[in-house]
Amino acid sequence: MPYTDIDFEKPGKQVGNIDFPHSIHTDAWGVLPIPVCVIKNGTGPTIILQGGNHGDEYEGPIILGELVRDLDPARVSGRLIILPTINRPAIEAGNRCSPLDGLNFNRTFPGKLTGSITEQLSSYVHDALFPLADAFIDLHSGGSSLNMMPSAIIEPCKDSNLAQKIRAAVMAFGAPMNVVISNYGDPRTSTAAAVRAGLVTVGTELGGAATVTPQALEIGRNGVFNLLAHLGVLEEKPEPTLLQATPVHQISGADAYVRASETGVFEPFHKLGDKVEAGQGAGRIHFLSDPEKAPVELVYARKGVVYGLRQPGNVRPGNCCVVIATRCQEQVIA
Ligand code: CA
Repeated sequence: MPYTDIDFEKPGKQVGNIDFPHSIHTDAWGVLPIPVCVIKNGTGPTIILQGGNHGDEYEGPIILGELVRDLDPARVSGRLIILPTINRPAIEAGNRCSPLDGLNFNRTFPGKLTGSITEQLSSYVHDALFPLADAFIDLHSGGSSLNMMPSAIIEPCKDSNLAQKIRAAVMAFGAPMNVVISNYGDPRTSTAAAVRAGLVTVGTELGGAATVTPQALEIGRNGVFNLLAHLGVLEEKPEPTLLQATPVHQISGADAYVRASETGVFEPFHKLGDKVEAGQGAGRIHFLSDPEKAPVELVYARKGVVYGLRQPGNVRPGNCCVVIATRCQEQVIA
């Protein structure tokens, strides 16, 4: 069973590990230590802050590491449970999925206590931590295969009361763009599971391309403090300008993704943030070993803004080349 010395009820700041027994060839009775920090002071809500869900998305772990080192517990009203690198094996490998069992942590919720190591991590977050919390923030970026417009993410929610709180929290984060993302309707992500558990849930996409940018870091840092102020855990109030409603976009369905139809090299026609029309060319796939063969063009199925772009040039059928976000009506949120 996972074990920790951290006392989740004790006031002050504690930094330690959650140890997951991990019996392998080179270490029969060893554990996989996952860093955790609990900051508790006074009364107020409990917020889980998670980074390193995917191991090639670095802004979350950097921002949460700063919080662990720098946040004075006296400033907090309530409790923060900070997991800067929940998927530590993936972070150390710089890989989206865990090198230990090949699983994508963010497709394993609600997890399984008797499952593989990644399923045990998600099971702990779901079964041990979610019940302690009022709100959950999961800091993502685009990772190795995608670059994204820095944005805060609204996870769809059927409960209209919770959906309103989620929308307000995402707005308070103050990212330049807010996007409703359902991940093809997948119920196995940590944010989908957090919403089902009734938590006020905020996601992010802070850039990507397996790099770190100062711009995305700044949006993420400000966003976390704005959100904690909005939730009543920090006293500072967000700048009034940040509370102005940013237009909400959505990735509205399968046709929001432009996917490769051939094996080859993808040449995009647009850059992040460009406005595009349905039927317009999105890019073309080149066949480098067959110079006589004409490239095949891909087209946008819907109007919107270029929100995500594939990073590696090489593609095979089904690869996501471009993601289009579309302005949405308010009722989509509820
Ligand atoms: Ca991600």
